[in-house]
Amino acid sequence: MTTTRSVLAAQATDYPRWFQDVIAKAELADNGPVRGTMVVRPYGYGIWELLQEAMNRKIKATGAENAYFPLLIPESYLQREAEHVEGFSPELAVVTHAGGKQLEEPAVIRPTSETMIGEYMGKWIQSYRDLPLLLNQWANAVRWELRPRLFLRTTEFLWQEGHTAHATFDDARAFATKILYDVYRDVMVNVLAIPVVVGRKTRRERFAGAINTMTLEAMTGDGKALQMGTAHELGQNFARAFDIDYLSSNGQRELAWTTSWGSTTRMVGGVIMVHGDDDGLRVPPAVAPVQVVVLAIKDETVAAARRIADDLEAAGLRVTVDDRTDQPFGRRAVNWELKGIPVRIELGPRDLAANAATVVRRLRSTKTAVNLADLTSTAVAAMDSDQAHLLEQATARQTARITTVSTVDDAVEAAAAGWASLPYDAVGETGEDRLATAGITVRCLQRPDGTLPASEDEDDLTAFVARSY
Ligand code: AMP
Repeated sequence: MTTTRSVLAAQATDYPRWFQDVIAKAELADNGPVRGTMVVRPYGYGIWELLQEAMNRKIKATGAENAYFPLLIPESYLQREAEHVEGFSPELAVVTHAGGKQLEEPAVIRPTSETMIGEYMGKWIQSYRDLPLLLNQWANAVRWELRPRLFLRTTEFLWQEGHTAHATFDDARAFATKILYDVYRDVMVNVLAIPVVVGRKTRRERFAGAINTMTLEAMTGDGKALQMGTAHELGQNFARAFDIDYLSSNGQRELAWTTSWGSTTRMVGGVIMVHGDDDGLRVPPAVAPVQVVVLAIKDETVAAARRIADDLEAAGLRVTVDDRTDQPFGRRAVNWELKGIPVRIELGPRDLAANAATVVRRLRSTKTAVNLADLTSTAVAAMDSDQAHLLEQATARQTARITTVSTVDDAVEAAAAGWASLPYDAVGETGEDRLATAGITVRCLQRPDGTLPASEDEDDLTAFVARSY
C-alpha cells in the first residue's frame, strides 16, 4: 500500500493536528478570514450534500415540510424567553448598524430560530386542526464560539433546524423521539456508518429554554465524545412567550407544546474523526462524492480507463477518471488515499495486456488483481460490504472503549482513554462538578435497557461520561 504518513501527523502522537492535516490535505475545508469561520471546499461540500440529501428525505418522511425564515431576528424576540436569551447571549452576533445608520432595534444573526419561528407559529396556528405543525429549514446559523475548530465548532455552520408544534405533551414527546431515532440515528448509523449512543442530557447540559434535550453521541478515534445532533422538548415555554395557542375541539384556548431539533456540518467532522486513519480520510460509500477512481497509469491506458469508468457509472456508481499521466503515479495514488475514496482501480499497460486491473480497497487496506470483466461487479459489491465494514469497526471500538465503573473517581481515570459508564446515582450534582474540573461531562443518561429516561430523576439510570469535542 502507498503510505502517506509523511504528510500527516500520526493519530497517536497528535490527534488534533492529524484532524487539521486531513482537512487540509484532503481538500475538505479551509479557515475563513474571520476567526472561527469555515470555507467548505468542493470535496467537503460534496460529502455534506450527500448527507444532506439523505437527511432531507428522512425528515420529509416524518411529514415535516421545508420552509425558510429570515437570518436577522429582532433582538426583542430573544428576550421573550428568559432562559433562552441567558443561554445564548454570550454567543450572539448582533447587527447594530445598517445602511449607514444605527438601527432602532438591533437584529441578532440567528443562532437558532425558536423565537423567529415561534412568532410565526403563533400567527398561523388557530385551532386544533392546524396541529401538528411540522417545519424544517436548511440554513446557516452563527454562534460566536470561543474555541472554534473546523467542522466541529465553527462560528457559522450549516444545518437543518426542525421546529414543530403539537396539541399535547405526549404528541410533542413522541415526535421529538421519532426524529431522534428514525431520522438522526438512522442516517448516522446507516448512511455515515457512525454508531451513536442515544440518551437524555442532564439539566446542566440541556438546551437553553428546553424542558428536555435528547442527544446522539459518537466516539471519535481518540476516544472522546462528539455530540452529533440533538432533539429538544420545549414544553410550553416558547408557546407561552410567542402566544402559540389553539382552540381545542371542545372550544377551550390551549397552549401548544413545541419541539426543536438540529444537526449540522459537524457531522462531516464526525465522519473524519470516526473513520479516518493515519493515511487520511475514509469515506463511507453512501456519502462518498467519488466512490471509485479509475487511475490510468500511462497515456496508453487512458482510453481503457474511460471505458471502465463508463461501465461503472452505468452501474450507478459515482466515478472519476484520473488521467493526469504527466504527474507521478505515486503522488496521485497518495492523493486519492488521503481523500479516502473507497475503491481505486489502477490500470497500467501490463495490467491491460493481462486483461486485468489492480483494485485497491481503501477501507479494507487490500490490493488485488481483478479481471476486467469482473471490475464492475467487484466495485458494486465493495460499496455495501465496505459500508458495513466501517460500521463494524467503529462499533467494535466504541464497545471496547466504554469502561463500566461505579464511582466518579474511577470514571475520571477511565475517561483518560475512552468513555466510562456508571450509575447516575453515583454522580449527582457534586459528581458533575467534580467531573467538570477534570474536563469531563455527562454525555447522556439511559435506562438499564438502553431506552430514554422520561426524566433525569428516574431510578437506576446509567450515565455515559467522557471528554468531548
Ligand atoms: P443546538 O441547537 O444547540 O441543540 O445544536 C444542534 C446541534 O448542532 C448540536 O447537537 C451540535 O451537534 C451542533 N452544533 C452546535 N454548535 C455548533 C457549532 N458551533 N458548529 C457546528 N455544529 C454545532
